[in-house]
Amino acid sequence: MIRYHRAILSISLIVCVLFGTGTRSPGQAFEWEAVKYKSADYVTLRSVKSFYYFKTIKYGSKIILENSKVKMEVSKGSQRCLMNGVLFILSHPIVAHGGRYLLSRTDLVKLVDPVMRPTYIKNARPFTTVVLDAGHGGKDPGSRGHFLNEKEYTLKMARLVRDKLQAKGYRVVMTRDSDVFISLANRVRVANKYPGAVFVSIHFNSGNSRANGIETFTISPVGVPHMGRGVRPRDYNMVPGNIMDSASIALATAVHSRTLLYLNDVTYGNNFRIEDRGIKRARFNVLTGIKIPAILVEGGFLSNRSEAGKVHSGAYQQTLANAIVRAIDVYRGSVSRGK
Ligand SMILES: [Zn+2]
Repeated sequence: MIRYHRAILSISLIVCVLFGTGTRSPGQAFEWEAVKYKSADYVTLRSVKSFYYFKTIKYGSKIILENSKVKMEVSKGSQRCLMNGVLFILSHPIVAHGGRYLLSRTDLVKLVDPVMRPTYIKNARPFTTVVLDAGHGGKDPGSRGHFLNEKEYTLKMARLVRDKLQAKGYRVVMTRDSDVFISLANRVRVANKYPGAVFVSIHFNSGNSRANGIETFTISPVGVPHMGRGVRPRDYNMVPGNIMDSASIALATAVHSRTLLYLNDVTYGNNFRIEDRGIKRARFNVLTGIKIPAILVEGGFLSNRSEAGKVHSGAYQQTLANAIVRAIDVYRGSVSRGK
């Protein structure tokens, strides 16, 4: 049995616009229904429902859990998990076993809980420094674009975000501020010089000519592979980035949800019709080696002519920058409470 103490449940959720605090009754220890399945640890969705005071649960092709702040949707056999409409890719599919639906313990501890209760993330602290990493540079152009190459957009974006963060009083460190090549190891070294900071790496994507949308990566928890790759023995080793698993998924949630919200709503400038590809797990060097909360944002596909046109526009760049800056503020607020 896994036991957690159910203290005051303050759901200062960072998904989308909500982010309200719903204070729950303090109280009793909570006993999770823990289940072993194929030698991995799971909890029943029934106990997830009970712990987070989800009011409704629907079984069918979709399982919907809902409380006053959050609507969570998962499906049997699937790694897709929607929380208030924002897509997360679970580390393990939802299992149906013995008449019960099961969520992996990794997904409970490393995804659902930090997203539902960011104030409870032990090592997430208020911060004033942001390390911005413009992907690629110099001899490394990154994705080839229809207009410009990735390295040029990442630098533009990093500068835009920097200026907006500085205007709000943040201290910003750039891993590069010109068209130079910086090794991944050096990017990690720069980030780790600022132990109280957060790290945001900015990239643009490449794939087939139809691939589109934004995706945000955070470190794979121990035992979870790099997205799209089978699990390897060394995936079971703890890496430096795992120290900040929970803080990183919370930061990713804030940034990913705001990015989608801002890019797809005229209130924030325009409706660019950007697809949600989800918050995913990866073992990129900049995520595995960095000891502060770290994420990697893929802000659109340069290989898709239509999307590349959007990315190329000043309006898109401004909106994306505004979303990232707002998200950093929201994340800071959510982890600062009570600290
Ligand atoms: Zn890139």
